[in-house]
Amino acid sequence: MATGGTIAGTGDIKGKYEAGTIPGSRLLDSVKDAFDINRVEVQELFSIDSKDMNENMWQEILICVKNFLAKDDAAGVVITHGTDTMAETAFFLEYTLDTDKPVVLTGAMRPASSLSADGPMNLWSALSVADNKESKGRGVLVVMNGEIHSAAYVAKIMRNDVSAFASVNTGAIGSVLNGDVRYFLPKSRPKHKIYKIEREKKLPFVPIIYSYAGDDGEVVGSVLRYGAKGLVYAGFGSGTFSKSVKNALDEAVKKGVKVMISSKVLKGRTLTEDKKFMSADFLTPEQARILLLLKIMDDV
Ligand code: ASP
Repeated sequence: MATGGTIAGTGDIKGKYEAGTIPGSRLLDSVKDAFDINRVEVQELFSIDSKDMNENMWQEILICVKNFLAKDDAAGVVITHGTDTMAETAFFLEYTLDTDKPVVLTGAMRPASSLSADGPMNLWSALSVADNKESKGRGVLVVMNGEIHSAAYVAKIMRNDVSAFASVNTGAIGSVLNGDVRYFLPKSRPKHKIYKIEREKKLPFVPIIYSYAGDDGEVVGSVLRYGAKGLVYAGFGSGTFSKSVKNALDEAVKKGVKVMISSKVLKGRTLTEDKKFMSADFLTPEQARILLLLKIMDDV
């Protein structure tokens, strides 16, 4: 399932390029010597730069994935995706898809037209992972740069290089080298609720607010005025914030707005002693926002 991204990008050799210009069928062509592409059915879903991904598109992807997986002869699904929001789409699918079949997202840091483009190898790796029985029952996966990550733990951690993804708390769950797939641990799927999404439901406004020295709570106040139904505060360290922010967050809860505390520090766990706030635990702010969205939609 092709959605665009740098993996489908073309441009000049110095790095100026446009994402999502090459169709999925042509991306598939680049791996024909490595993988039996006659076994692959291509769906051209979007051709966007994943900066422009949104919640409505997630719902479309979800429906499409479900339709594919419903076919008896479908071993799994590979989604080609821009790296900017790949971890978010993967997390959304991880929390909304109830399936044993592998669903694997991949992309590239270098456009298809660049020197040493990483897309073809990543695509081969992703197809190999989706086609491997050992990948069943592990939830949604992200395959980049020879590493297999669980969508529950992965984040983009690097701005430029091909080693752009990591699961900082757990490490990768497996490796894929020239199509050979290996997992480090026996099969298990991350434990969490799977949310059922009704397509027509209007998605609430749930922003992330990022902590900084001098935050006087004004941003929290303004998103409340703007109608936020929930918010994630990406605090300092283990999820702390200034006194002024605390007052603003207390006010938010009083108004019925759901507040989840995460941290802008990528590794570790959020400790939220104040029980009126939800804790993002190990989740990144972006993951926490998706979980909060799903929780709010589940409540209405
Ligand atoms: N801006 C691109 C995208 O997310 C970046 C990439 O794919 O690496 O679509």
